[in-house]
Amino acid sequence: MKKIQLSLIYLSVAIAALVSVNSYSQNRTVLAEAERISGDRFMIVTRTPQGAVVNALTRPNRETLAAIDAGLTELFEVARRNGYRKALRYSDYTIYIAKADREKDADGRYSPDIAVPSAQYAGSAYDKGGFIYVAGIVVALNPCAFMIAEHTKDYSRISTAVRNEGEHLVLYHNDRKRFGETADHSKGGGHPILQ
Ligand SMILES: [Zn+2]
Repeated sequence: MKKIQLSLIYLSVAIAALVSVNSYSQNRTVLAEAERISGDRFMIVTRTPQGAVVNALTRPNRETLAAIDAGLTELFEVARRNGYRKALRYSDYTIYIAKADREKDADGRYSPDIAVPSAQYAGSAYDKGGFIYVAGIVVALNPCAFMIAEHTKDYSRISTAVRNEGEHLVLYHNDRKRFGETADHSKGGGHPILQ
């Protein structure tokens, strides 16, 4: 059975409203939000070969950076097929790679995920007692930023998480109505949104 991958847009909306006039303080605000969500300190900043910004705890390996680019490439292709034109540059995206809060899912499969507060998922099937595990989470809508967990293998999982979180950001910048309809998975609906 294919697991639905969740993301939690609601955390981002407050941050998007706080975005300030210059990009330095903008980046500081987004970084602070990423550190608040994960409890990590992101000391490493680098770029993928295609130019996406990556913040991490340790220097990401080549496989990780390539997997991020592959996920964005797939995202941009499907976005163009849907007629979307904005936020389709690699450099539009900042990815935070957080420490995984679990390495395996309930079935024992390799599944590095991030634990985040349940909020609107409280009481749903996803609720693990005040928090839920997610493959990725949107950190900010503008500038585009999301978070995934560190992987040491199965890098295609990174590509999938990147594509999935990126969907929310592409929709925010191109189709605000559809964004609003698909941002919250607590009442059903998952990924992929864009076909
Ligand atoms: Zn999602």
